[in-house]
Amino acid sequence: MSARHDPNCIFCKIIAGQIPSKKAYEDEELLAFHDINPWAPVHVLIIPKAHIATLYDAQPEDDALLGRMLGLAPRLMRELGVDDGFRTIVNTGPNGGQEVYHLHMHVMGGPRPWKKG
Ligand code: 5GP
Repeated sequence: MSARHDPNCIFCKIIAGQIPSKKAYEDEELLAFHDINPWAPVHVLIIPKAHIATLYDAQPEDDALLGRMLGLAPRLMRELGVDDGFRTIVNTGPNGGQEVYHLHMHVMGGPRPWKKG
């Protein structure tokens, strides 16, 4: 299993408050914050507080955590005023277009057109 905290990881630094972010949700296991370069009017990232580098690195015991990330998405989008649909993406690894190696789920919504997608 990978280390659950990486001091060099930008998202671990956001979790620790060492890098500022616009938080949308937080509990003991998860953090959601607005993407710094949004593709859509509402674009949040839902991340586990545990440092899991990619979806490949999630272990069977992380299944409930992964489920919580997905379950949070519709509730959070409704809270943010998005009640007419949204898109979720988990980029995984180099061919998946992943740039930040701390597991994250993009959740995007709001009126189109969007910058990407
Ligand atoms: P990936 O390509 O890894 O799936 O997406 C990483 C996302 O993280 C990008 O959409 C990028 O804009 C976002 N991001 C990278 N660094 C920061 C940061 O320091 N703060 C915030 N809020 N978002 C970031």
